Formats: sequence, structure tokens, C-alpha cells
Amino acid sequence: MNGSKVNGLPLGARKSEKCTVVWVGDVPIGGSSVVVMAGPCSVESREQVIETALSVRADGASILRGGAYKPRTSPYDFQGLGVEGLKLLREAGDAAGMPIVTEVMSEEDAGIIADYADLLQVGARNMQNFALLKKLAKTKRPILLKRGASATVKEWLAAAEYLLHGGNENVILCERGIKGFDSSLRNTLDLAAVALVKEMTHLPVIVDPSHATGKRSLIAPTARAALAVGADGVIIEVHPDPDNAWSDGAQSLTLGGFAELMGSLLVPTRPVLAIANAAFAV
Ligand code: PEP
Ligand code: MN
Repeated sequence: MNGSKVNGLPLGARKSEKCTVVWVGDVPIGGSSVVVMAGPCSVESREQVIETALSVRADGASILRGGAYKPRTSPYDFQGLGVEGLKLLREAGDAAGMPIVTEVMSEEDAGIIADYADLLQVGARNMQNFALLKKLAKTKRPILLKRGASATVKEWLAAAEYLLHGGNENVILCERGIKGFDSSLRNTLDLAAVALVKEMTHLPVIVDPSHATGKRSLIAPTARAALAVGADGVIIEVHPDPDNAWSDGAQSLTLGGFAELMGSLLVPTRPVLAIANAAFAV
């Protein structure tokens, strides 16, 4: 069933102080607590993903991340283990008692990934892949919609609207950095947009400090900043041996580094949200 606008407002538009809570397995996202998703950029082996899962779980992460289908800039880079990776991620999630999140890159893989994963990630490169969004709207799984690296807030919310309009109410937004003029870091983390989007929509919003900065030492400070501006959680890349990771090692925490971060993540009192007076239009 397709949803339609309510009183002329998009389905995602904030209409009151009430925030939508999206359940991923037994984990609520968007309520009074914050969520920490953690795990390797790519699933590489059973040992790697299980060791990571058990460790991040013990430190307080509640959702396990791991890529099985990887969107890589170069076709010569590791492309992910595919179905084998999905199975290993599921096994690790089950071993640690955690729901799992993984990326869906194409419509043709949506069915099999939805069979294994609890939360389906639409990556930055696919934020405006409307055929994929329409397909995922029909799955019963919640969706983690990353902001495209060059997408405006309006385009990001319009992409979310495709999912809502298509019948999937369980949408979580993720700010992961945008392209700016400064090449000092991989991307530019748009934290003000997180606070803005929290005013504009009732959907949960999380932040990905790993992809936003590309730099291990900046993950902890930006994760703390994300929670301070009102994000509903963070998603962080963690690897037992980041220097030898098959992808994104430079922006992955070690297991010990993740434990340290968790000790320093002061969970702020949830702010009272303004209701955006300039509702967005799609
Ligand atoms: C990822 O989560 O590993 C990833 C590729 O993210 P993004 O789409 O934000 O680049
Ligand atoms: Mn990555």
C-alpha cells in the first residue's frame, strides 16, 4: 500500500514532538536511548567477524555492521564476499546476540539480503537509486538510508519519502559526510544538518564518523559531537587488525579503541525538539 501526504505534508515531515521509533530486531532506534552499531567495513572471514562481534557486543554495541556487497570506487578493489559474507555476518550476529545491518547495492540482491539481514543499508552512492528505493520499500525490513555525498538535505529527505510512500515506515537516516572543498579529510561531516533534519522529520537520524572523516583518530571526537547535536546513534567501523583490513582500515577502530570510545560516549539528555517551521516539500 502506498502512503500519501498527510494534510499536504510529506510522510516524513515532523508534525509534533513525537519521534518515530524504528525497531531493528529487539533494538529500538529513535527513542530515549542512543544506539551504537559497530563492526567491520567488510566481512572478510568467520574469525574476523565473530571476534569483532563478540568484542563490540561486550563493550555495549547493539547492532553488528558488516559489508558483504561492497560499493568500491575501483573495480580492482575487494568487492565483498557476497552471499558467503551475508551468512558469516548472520552467524556472527547470532553468536553475539545482535541484529545485523548490511548494504544492498542492487535490486537483484534485495531478496536474499532481506532473508539474512535485520536492517538493510542503502549506501551513499545509491541514495537516489529510485528503482532500488521502490524495491526496498516493499520489503518488510527497516532501511538505513545514508545521505549521498553530494545530496542536499532536501534530496535526502525526498529519497526517504520514496521508502515511506512505497509502504515502508521503518526508515533510519544516516549522515556520513558530504563532499566539500577541503581534501584534508575524506568527507565533511555535516553535523548541523543532523540537528536540522531532526527538526524537519520524525525519523531517527544516526551518524557515521568513520566514512565522514576517513581517519581513526577523529572517530571518537566526532561520535561524541554527533550525540551532542541530537543524533539517535552512531555507526562505527571496527576491525581486529585495521592495518590489514581489506577495506577502510584507516577509518576503523581497533577492538581496544572501540572499548575506549564506548567508555567516553556520554549519552546526553535527549533535547526537546523544535518543530521545523519550514516543513520540507517533495
Ligand atoms: C559502508 O558503510 O561501508 C559504506 C560504503 O558507506 P557509504 O555508503 O556511506 O560510503
Ligand atoms: Mn567502509
